Amino acid sequence: MKYTARIGTFFGIPVRAHVTFPLILIVFGAGAWIDGSWQDGLRAVLLVLTIFACVVLHEFGHSLQVQRYGITVRDIVLLPIGGMARAESIPEKPRQEIIVAISGPLVNFALASIFLMMLFFKDAPVDLENDFVANLFAINIVLGTFNLIPAYPMDGGRILRGILASRMPYLRATRYARNIGQIIAILFAIVAFLDSRFVMLSVIAIFVFFGAISEERMIRTKFALRGKTVGDFLPESVPLLDSATLVEDAAPHFKDDRVIALPVAGGAGKIAGVVSRTDIAAAMRDGNGRLPLSHIARTGFPLMAAETPALQGLHLLRSRRQRFGGVIRDGVFVGLVSVDALTASAG
Ligand SMILES: [Zn+2]
Repeated sequence: MKYTARIGTFFGIPVRAHVTFPLILIVFGAGAWIDGSWQDGLRAVLLVLTIFACVVLHEFGHSLQVQRYGITVRDIVLLPIGGMARAESIPEKPRQEIIVAISGPLVNFALASIFLMMLFFKDAPVDLENDFVANLFAINIVLGTFNLIPAYPMDGGRILRGILASRMPYLRATRYARNIGQIIAILFAIVAFLDSRFVMLSVIAIFVFFGAISEERMIRTKFALRGKTVGDFLPESVPLLDSATLVEDAAPHFKDDRVIALPVAGGAGKIAGVVSRTDIAAAMRDGNGRLPLSHIARTGFPLMAAETPALQGLHLLRSRRQRFGGVIRDGVFVGLVSVDALTASAG
């Protein structure tokens, strides 16, 4: 993720804070200062920092379980609305997914028990509303319980998907979980609208609603690409353009909307580069229709072997922000594979 700074690395997992993270410290700190004294402001900042320490521990609850199943955790990112552990993948075995998902909230309940004990052994009577430890107890109960709401992709939603997936195909279970998650997201938005104290719920509603869509789509793509290679997604016949062809003469090859790029031949059957639909359109617009393709052909596109697993190919294109890549078989360029072609099969 862009715009993050590393705070530290624990158990081999880097913890990063997003650039927007200090905003929440400023909002709560300044709010308490204005309403009371600077000591109140400092106390609020300390409380928020401690809450986020609990959030980090929650994410480590998930992460250490994921690592136990042999999956790499890239990092944990802190955002103003909470934390996010980013793993290479999510275990598909229902039992494993349930254990991973429940481990986060369990950390909060464990922390709440510790804070409850601390309250118990305090000598002086406790002012529940203003006591630091009492606040932390309550917040951990809320964090643990809230995350168990079955709003996929929140923890409770993942548990729900795991339970459903042990009774029906994984994709159908995910679809049900997505639908339930979206209904709950709409309820969150309604509550936020009716009661301004719950304004944060509107942010979470958006996160859940669109998160559910994108996660379900990602899983559909993953299943559709399973067992396939990038070679399976090559267009049937691709015209090889000559590098001396003029831009305006190459333009008709792009009449079909599905053609997003074509290879340009160099000497002795070697590929010299690729021209994309947008390159041709830009050249025509700038009045460069009479230039040869060698002038606009690009060479800096990713290349991959035809045997590359299709999902890996898709990840490569997305991570390099490219819409297409070249495919090589036995050292020979055989065509271009596009993000559109790879994702179309998921429906
Ligand atoms: Zn969680």
